[in-house]
Amino acid sequence: MLLIFPLTLFNCGSSGPAVGNSKAVDPMPNANKKNPAKNLILMIGDGMGLTQITAGIYDNDNSLSFEKFPVTGLMKTHSYDNLVTDSAAGGTAMACGVKTYNNGVGVDKDGIPVKSILEEAEEKKMMTGIVVTSSLVNATPACFMAHQKLRAFTEPIAEEIANSGVDFLVGGGKKYFDRRDSDERNLSKEMENKGYQIEDFIDHQKIQDVEIIPGKKFVYFTADDDPLTKITGRDYLPYASKMGAEFLKSNSENGFFMMIEGSQIDLGGHATNLKYVMSELKDFDETIKQVLQFAEADGETLVIVTADHETGGMGIKEGSKLNNIKADFIYGRHTGTMVPVFAYGPGSENFTGVFDNTALYKKMKAALITMDSRE
Ligand code: ZN
Ligand code: MG
Repeated sequence: MLLIFPLTLFNCGSSGPAVGNSKAVDPMPNANKKNPAKNLILMIGDGMGLTQITAGIYDNDNSLSFEKFPVTGLMKTHSYDNLVTDSAAGGTAMACGVKTYNNGVGVDKDGIPVKSILEEAEEKKMMTGIVVTSSLVNATPACFMAHQKLRAFTEPIAEEIANSGVDFLVGGGKKYFDRRDSDERNLSKEMENKGYQIEDFIDHQKIQDVEIIPGKKFVYFTADDDPLTKITGRDYLPYASKMGAEFLKSNSENGFFMMIEGSQIDLGGHATNLKYVMSELKDFDETIKQVLQFAEADGETLVIVTADHETGGMGIKEGSKLNNIKADFIYGRHTGTMVPVFAYGPGSENFTGVFDNTALYKKMKAALITMDSRE
């Protein structure tokens, strides 16, 4: 999530591919089957590698919701131009199915916009939702709703979000909508005029206190820019995620697509701060628990949990004990290790094996009833 972009990156797509002619690793043994899932909830732990999850399990009495998933896989995360991806290229791969250069949001390696699975879901009259613990204009959510050559173009990203048609939005970044530097527009007002109920942390400190107006799309801004950390009091992710799933289900005949992000696991890694990582990881796990409860009761929802990349090169050290983990980081930056994928529900069987982050997009589409299964 760090906004580090050397000026050379303004020459989008000028650098060569990180992996020559990459073989399309895409095992999909059951792709001929009828698509089985009505709803899909994609949960992304930003910067959540296998070590973060392992440490979280041992730090929580040797038990977290990750262990409930019947299907697991491993995903390669490299971007078009770098073996170590950033969240923009990683998000674009999962949202749009293409490799792009680091810092690219919803565009291919040449900077050309590519439709996201959320936008395709909108076209198929599915309901759509995004719940994150970063600002809504941050790279990961932006890749599902916007197309910009650089992730730093936050106000244009807000404009695209306002026009995306997404039905349920929870996250920070209020100021990019209603107090903009680049123009005088009030996107919140514009969204209200288009049928959105717009709420925020100022009028309702907790999302639990908001009364939903039936028949409207829904936005709740949790902060002016980036939301608080879990340690300093943020607590909306589990509740808002379940609320979102129920909101989207009750309003949809054609199913829904929802992306939930534990955005700040990454920030803990950047800060090489174990307590920060563990608190955010556990908050994300509590959210997974709520989502699995929803999916179990629903029976038509596929739940995918994965990461865009690992952050920090975290390692569990000798001397660690149950509920008292000792860990170190190689540095406060992203790494290029593969990340785990966890799947539950109808269509989950295709998320096993070793595959590319662009294949995640194809697998998600192949699982959804409303999407064409063979494209
Ligand atoms: Zn990061
Ligand atoms: Mg992110």
